[in-house]
Amino acid sequence: MDAGVPARRRREMAAAVSGASRCRLSKVGAGRRPPPARVRVAVRLRPFVDGTAGENDTPCVRGLDSCSLEIANWRNHQETLKYQFDAFYGERSSQQDIYAGSVQPILRHLLEGQNASVLAYGPTGAGKTHTMLGSLEQPGVIPRALMDLLQLTREEGAEGRPWALSVTMSYLEIYQEKVLDLLEPSSGDLVIREDCRGNILIPGLTQKPITSFADFERHFLPASRNRTVGATRLNQRSSRSHAVLLVKVDQRERLAPFRQREGKLYLIDLAGSEDNRRTGNKGLRLKESGAINTSLFVLGKVVDALNQGLPRVPYRDSKLTRLLQYSLDGSAHSILIANIAPERRFYLDTVSALNFAARSKEVINRPFTNESLQLPVLAPVKLSQKELLGPSEAKRARGPEEEETRSPKLPVAPASASQKLSPLQKLSSMDPAMLERLLSLDRLLGSQGSQGTPLLSTPKRERMVLMKTVEEKDLEIERLKMKQKELEAKVLAQEAADPKEKENYSPTIKLESLDASQPEEKAEDGWELQISPELLAHGHQKILDLLNEGSARDLRSLQRIGQKKAQLIVGWRELHGPFSQVEDLERVEGISGKQMESFPKANILGLAAGQGCGPS
Ligand code: ADP
Ligand code: MG
Repeated sequence: MDAGVPARRRREMAAAVSGASRCRLSKVGAGRRPPPARVRVAVRLRPFVDGTAGENDTPCVRGLDSCSLEIANWRNHQETLKYQFDAFYGERSSQQDIYAGSVQPILRHLLEGQNASVLAYGPTGAGKTHTMLGSLEQPGVIPRALMDLLQLTREEGAEGRPWALSVTMSYLEIYQEKVLDLLEPSSGDLVIREDCRGNILIPGLTQKPITSFADFERHFLPASRNRTVGATRLNQRSSRSHAVLLVKVDQRERLAPFRQREGKLYLIDLAGSEDNRRTGNKGLRLKESGAINTSLFVLGKVVDALNQGLPRVPYRDSKLTRLLQYSLDGSAHSILIANIAPERRFYLDTVSALNFAARSKEVINRPFTNESLQLPVLAPVKLSQKELLGPSEAKRARGPEEEETRSPKLPVAPASASQKLSPLQKLSSMDPAMLERLLSLDRLLGSQGSQGTPLLSTPKRERMVLMKTVEEKDLEIERLKMKQKELEAKVLAQEAADPKEKENYSPTIKLESLDASQPEEKAEDGWELQISPELLAHGHQKILDLLNEGSARDLRSLQRIGQKKAQLIVGWRELHGPFSQVEDLERVEGISGKQMESFPKANILGLAAGQGCGPS
């Protein structure tokens, strides 16, 4: 498709596009949980084209089946490198084959409020623009998709249908990291922003409402002329910029609960991934190539980071990836069409494009519905969502109530009792991924004993009360545990005081009472002692022997006899003769009776325990 074509030819093209759309799009019911999606990757091999092939140029790549291909291995000529993708389109495939096989199936998601994107990747001259735009004779993805989408929105938005639909288009290019409005070229470099709900916005970017294919052409064809193109040795009309056509489908429910949905379709003709050394680029062209390749390099890094589940995905490192952030990260249905050329001179670029495509294949997307409600009765649910989700998820989870508070331009519907939503209706309007998370949280709470606490429909205040009750219960349990410990300690103490129990722990040497007439005494450790009479008599005799015969040094081995007392005893013995009984010690001057009161017993116990008690 070229700019400035006559109206008659354009009508023919429209007719060709219309006729080519054999498969009808169908709108899928709202509220159904979409299956996880991933970036689908298709490879398209273009045929040899006149003027590009040299005399000795032979194909270096060929298709094997509808999903795989092989390319010569430059390291080993006996081998080939094999690749498998979601789809492979060979030289003979038509524009309709690519459209019907890989693009048309994702368009229906726009009417579910989800985003979709189609990216044409590959080296310059490999057929990206042909695939996306095509020609009058062979219209590409863009005119075909627009034709179908506009027809579908007309049908679905007709009077009497539940939703009113409107379509707008914007068209921009990213050239040397500048965002240029192709519908309004005088705007200059535009900035890319993200709003508080996680939407990527370009303030000031022109949006044209379109209701028919003629409308689309009226805006699109002149804008295409504004696209920056230049000449390189590889391609006479080489695209030096990334061209992004954005088509937005807005839906508003005509009856309560007046939901709103927004689906965005990005149709992107990426600039070439050619190698600077081979294009012969110099000066400005080299600079352009550098910028282009930087963007594509970042695109590769983004894909890698997504594949590996890395915490940081470098979307912000280039304008292209920033803009495509939600076309790749799970919020969109994406298809990457890697265009390759058969000629040997493209070999290295082809291998590099195939490797890039092979990496992209691993990206898993989980689309969500951009649906909103206008009813203020949902405010409590908003609180619970915000509390339960992390900031980034909360941002992505465009809940119904957020739309209500953050879209002041929307008419607020009266919240009559009949319009109030049941909890089930609330759930059905949530993002499925978020809903799943809420349900699992609810299950977790249930498994922890909070039966009958439906988290999803419980307003914040009720949950606060519940949490407080749980806290109080925890404290009560702690108090009871302390009390139990105290009681156990008391029981142990009582058992220790019970003599019957103590027998179990008595020393193996059982001492009998020292004297039947003496009151029971307790040893220092509190155990009750009983000394047998024989042992008592024996002990007395040994002590007496020591007192009468032992030296001062021997005497000091007795309990309570120090150096001074030992000398006093020896002196007394020399004066008065031998002691006749142990108790005579009290007669020794300097040794008081009180001091020696427990002297015999202490020494007899020492002897009984086998401790040394002088020479014996
Ligand atoms: P790119 O946009 O990747 O630089 P183009 O789309 O401009 O490449 O294609 C380069 C040339 O090859 C154009 O003349 C185009 O018409 C032609 N071409 C590309 N793909 C095909 C195809 N599948 N069938 C026929 N011609 C093709
Ligand atoms: Mg091109």
